[in-house]
Amino acid sequence: MNGLVIEYRDPLFGIFTIFTLIFIVSFLTYAYNIYIEKKSRKEYRKLLKKFELGDLKEDDYIHLYTTYNLPFDSIILLASSFLHKGDYNKAISVYLALLEHVKDPTKKEELLELLGNTYFKGGFLQRSKDIYLKILKFSPHNIIALKYLLLIYEKLKDYSKTQDVIESLKELDVDIQKEEIFITTLKIIDDSLLSFEEKSIKLLEIFSANKIIERLVMEFLLKYNKKLFWKNINKFSLSKVMDLLWYLDFNDIDFNAVNNNIFLKELYSAKKHINSSTSSDIFEFNVLISTNNSTSKVDIDLNFDFICTQCKKLHPIYDNRCPHCNSILTFKVKPQLTKGYYEKNSSLQ
Ligand SMILES: [Zn+2]
Repeated sequence: MNGLVIEYRDPLFGIFTIFTLIFIVSFLTYAYNIYIEKKSRKEYRKLLKKFELGDLKEDDYIHLYTTYNLPFDSIILLASSFLHKGDYNKAISVYLALLEHVKDPTKKEELLELLGNTYFKGGFLQRSKDIYLKILKFSPHNIIALKYLLLIYEKLKDYSKTQDVIESLKELDVDIQKEEIFITTLKIIDDSLLSFEEKSIKLLEIFSANKIIERLVMEFLLKYNKKLFWKNINKFSLSKVMDLLWYLDFNDIDFNAVNNNIFLKELYSAKKHINSSTSSDIFEFNVLISTNNSTSKVDIDLNFDFICTQCKKLHPIYDNRCPHCNSILTFKVKPQLTKGYYEKNSSLQ
C-alpha cells in the first residue's frame, strides 16, 4: 500500500518541486532585474537632475558613457552645453576625462579636435597648438587641424610656420589663396627690418594685384604714412574706411584732397569740418548734413558697426578675422545715427 502511495506521489511531487523551483528562480531573477532597473533609473534621474542644474562632474560623464552606454555623440552634445555658457575650463576637463576612456581612434580624433577648438576659443593658444600638432602626427591630412594651426600661428605672429602650413594645405588641394595674401600682408606690416616707407611701397604693390587687402593698406597708410594715403586716394574705395576717416584728427586731414573727392566732401560736411556738400546719397550723411544747415538744434552723431558678410553677425569693433566664423576680411562698415554727446548726457539728468 505504502509503496503504491509513494509510486503515486513521487512523480507529481517531483514535477511540483521542479515547477516551484523554476517559478521561484524566475521570480527572483525578475524581481532582481526590476530592482537593478529601478536603481539605475534612479541614478540616471539623479544624473539628469544634476545635468539640469549644471552640476555634472567630469566623472559623471564617464559614468554616463561607460555604465549607461549613452552614445558618444550624446555625451559630446551634453558637454557642449558648457561651451554655450562660455565655461571652457569645464568643457576641457570633460573632454580630457573622456579621452582616457575612449578607445576608438576616430572618436579620439574627434575629441582632440574639440579639445583643440575649445582651448583656442578659451584663448589658450599654446595648448591648442600642441593638440593640433598631436592630431597631425597620426592624421597628417586633417584639414581642420591644419586650418586651426594656421590661425594659431597667425595669432602668435609666427610667420615662419604659417608658410609650412599653407604649403601642406595646398598639397591637399585646399583653396588657401586669400589666406596666403592676407598673411603675406601681415608679415610685411610686422617686419621690423623694413622702414614705414618700404612697407608702404610693398603694401601698395600687393594691393594693386589683390584688392582684398584694401582696408589693411588704407589703415596702415592712415596710421604711418598719411602723405602717401592722401596721394593715393583715387585708388581706394574710401567708403570701406569711413569709420577711420570719420575719427581722423582734424590736423591730419588734407583738405585739398578732400575738395577733389565727392565722398570725402560729403563725409566731412556731415562731420561739420567743412560746409561744401548740401546732400549725400548715403542716408546717414544726408541726415547729418541737413541738420547742420537747419536752425533748430538737433544733436545727433554717427557711430559704426561692422557686419561680417560671411556669417552676418554684427560686431562693434573692426577685426581682420571674424571672431565668430574665423573668415578673413569679411567685415563691412555700417554707419549708424546715434544721439549726440550733449543729448546723451542731458537725458541722464
Ligand atoms: Zn563671420
